[in-house]
Amino acid sequence: MTSKEQKSIAILGSTGSIGVSTLEIVAAFPERYRIVSLTAGSNISLLKKQIRQFRPEVVAVADESAVQRLRDEMGADGPEILTGVDGLVCCATHPAADMLVSAIVGAAGLVPTMAAVHAGKDIALANKEILVAAGEFFMAEVERQGVRLIPVDSEHSAIFQSLAGQRGQDVRRLILTASGGPFRNTSLDDLQRVGLADALVHPNWEMGQKITIDSATMMNKGLEVIEARWLFNLPAEQIAVHIHPQSIVHSLVEYCDGAVIAQLGIPDMKTPIAYALSWPERLPLKQTPLDLCRCSDLSFSEPDIERFACLSLAYQALEKGGTCPAVMNAANEVAVAAFLQEKIGFLQISEIITQVMKSHKSIAIIELDQVLKADSWGREQAARLIAEGVK
Ligand code: NAD
Ligand code: MG
Repeated sequence: MTSKEQKSIAILGSTGSIGVSTLEIVAAFPERYRIVSLTAGSNISLLKKQIRQFRPEVVAVADESAVQRLRDEMGADGPEILTGVDGLVCCATHPAADMLVSAIVGAAGLVPTMAAVHAGKDIALANKEILVAAGEFFMAEVERQGVRLIPVDSEHSAIFQSLAGQRGQDVRRLILTASGGPFRNTSLDDLQRVGLADALVHPNWEMGQKITIDSATMMNKGLEVIEARWLFNLPAEQIAVHIHPQSIVHSLVEYCDGAVIAQLGIPDMKTPIAYALSWPERLPLKQTPLDLCRCSDLSFSEPDIERFACLSLAYQALEKGGTCPAVMNAANEVAVAAFLQEKIGFLQISEIITQVMKSHKSIAIIELDQVLKADSWGREQAARLIAEGVK
């Protein structure tokens, strides 16, 4: 760190929902954080504003056509501007960075985040797809390098906080809460007719488009079960999901003596992001406090896996193990992208993933390349099904 208090931060995905919230926290605590690198996909106008405000030393953009224009506009005083996977890796492993906030969406975050672990950076992990695609492999590297991996996902942050000071062997199970998304009460029949606009309205959280659709299919919760399996090293049998429409109880840990410890708060990602940045301290955020007296109804119920097939697909992928979760994730990314382009219907998302998983022969992962190959294979299969007009 540059001074005792100031932490140097690299952000993958600075123009996204998590990236923007992270930068709001950095801006509110300039004495504690400084930015060394930022990366963006295609939102160059927002990236320019972020460069002017946070003065990173290096940035990477996925959109290659924007690189030269950005270099010209930023001039000699501007940051180094890179592109491609190498650019992401350079940003994630910047020598001055103490911590990487990994907030690119999807398996695209895997290679640069893995590189940051190799380089000994602490990781604030928002990107859950990394642990879905390569959880066991990734965690082994985290252990080998001795880096800190702090979850940003609200459920996992809640579990992380609820485990503090407890013994791992005393945990009976983790209970992940799920809002149930916009279709919590929609019948299977009606789910055949829901459209993009209906799916993009999340009742409690404002997030990027991909995770919003994942919340509507409940694949998001499936991905989070796999994320929890690797983050907390517990088998799937000890990870349960409860529907909790109010999104106030962010998740719970049940212990062997029957005690249940939970973390509560208003649904705002700034709390778990700030905790990941400042752990083990807490930052004095200017948040609307949770008023429990106004939460007259905190309800919990079992998820309906008939209507939300994606949740059981994730448990099946965990059971199969090896490259299966990477393939499931890849098929989901392609299917969600097709749904966002209105090329397929809502229920076809789970249908595509089911078919791709069925045709996959899973192998054990001993090197990263196998994950990347499984990811490409899953994408190709899903794209083929879409092109053929999957029913
Ligand atoms: P988002 O779509 O709002 O932002 C994604 C960011 O990644 C953007 O900056 C985009 O430009 C960048 N990006 C996307 N594809 C890229 C590529 N191929 N190369 C380089 N950059 C690329 O997504 P988000 O909602 O901020 O979610 C980010 C991650 O955090 C996801 O994995 C999501 O599951 C997880 N997460 C998000 C929330 C939330 O509240 N938004 C909560 C928990 C976990
Ligand atoms: Mg979550």
